[in-house]
Amino acid sequence: MLRMDGFVYRHASSWEDALALWQSNPEAQYIAGGTDLLPNVKHGLFAPKLLVGIGGVPAGVRREAEAIVISAATRLDDLAVDSSIREHLAPLAQAAALVASPQLRAMATLGGNVMLDTRCMYYNQTLFWRQALGYCLKAEGTWCHVIAGPKTCVASQSSDTVPVLLALDARLRLLGPEGRRELSIRELYQYNGMDHLRLTAGELLTDVVIPTPGPGFRGSYSKLRTRDSIDFPQMGLAVCGQWEGSTPRTLEIVVGAVSPQPKPVRGLDAFVGAPLDDAAIGAIADLVHKQTRPQGSVHGDSNWRRQMAAVFTRRALTALRG
Ligand SMILES: Cc1cc2nc3c(=O)[nH]c(=O)nc-3n(C[C@H](O)[C@H](O)[C@H](O)COP(=O)(O)OP(=O)(O)OC[C@H]3O[C@@H](n4cnc5c(N)ncnc54)[C@H](O)[C@@H]3O)c2cc1C
Ligand code: SF4
Repeated sequence: MLRMDGFVYRHASSWEDALALWQSNPEAQYIAGGTDLLPNVKHGLFAPKLLVGIGGVPAGVRREAEAIVISAATRLDDLAVDSSIREHLAPLAQAAALVASPQLRAMATLGGNVMLDTRCMYYNQTLFWRQALGYCLKAEGTWCHVIAGPKTCVASQSSDTVPVLLALDARLRLLGPEGRRELSIRELYQYNGMDHLRLTAGELLTDVVIPTPGPGFRGSYSKLRTRDSIDFPQMGLAVCGQWEGSTPRTLEIVVGAVSPQPKPVRGLDAFVGAPLDDAAIGAIADLVHKQTRPQGSVHGDSNWRRQMAAVFTRRALTALRG
């Protein structure tokens, strides 16, 4: 039985309410669906004194001028079946539907998925397990067992929706002690598994804003994992673009779950504006392979995960070009 130390739970019914509750106690943490936070508390990774519940904040998807706006409190299950998400942002619906299992998606929120802690097979373990190993740099220790060194943590950003949100150029609306601000999701993550979010203390994600895709938009999300029924990604690949027949007018590819930061693939402009034949698809797959360097923080041989990024690229582009 994994027990949790005592904490106080306070329920917020608005973002402002949640921020005010957080400000009342410097050791507070936000909790949305709790599907990641509570296992981490049980594993002794966090010991919050106050949990501020944001599951009661209004959820849902709405339209604003030239954008689709999703409340961070929206459950992944609802996102996966929302008619405007399915119609305009199909890869996001696809990614949300591939997170964890039906029970977890019924609780899990988009905000929690974007803000998810980084993962590592030496870190997401019980206190007893971690203690026996002498802990690690990310929690209570001084050594990284993945790269065998005392300085860098390469725990993985392992959210399924995040590569798609980067490929869709999403913006994040944040509310914190210093007020409101907007940030491109491409600016949120940094290459440091111990501190991978560029946020100030207490900042809340309130909304995810996605520009309505232009005409001919097509995209997909593919996920590599051991058990399709529940597992986190060992690698996730988002491909999005605007197409005219088999010609991409824009093209974005983002690889997730390989390092603390999702990886947008560079150099795709060279393939835009001409029909995507098999040779071009092969060249893009080579580019993805070259730029993907999976760290050994999650299960699965790193070389295999890298090769699968190229395989998934080839499959996705072949399907998308029609
Ligand atoms: C068995 C299992 C399998 C899983 N498989 C997957 C998987 O395949 N893919 C995947 O992506 N995830 C997976 N997860 C992780 C988790 O279920 C999801 O990432 C989920 O979306 C987290 O959302 P939540 O609302 O439950 O977040 P919570 O657990 O409530 O919170 C997660 C973190 O986000 C912070 N947070 C939450 N909302 C906000 C906000 N609005 N503003 C600021 N901070 C916020 C919390 O403080 C916490 O640090 C799995 C979890 C389990 C237990
Ligand atoms: S990558 Fe290294 S430091 Fe980071 S969680 Fe894993 S073992 Fe710990």
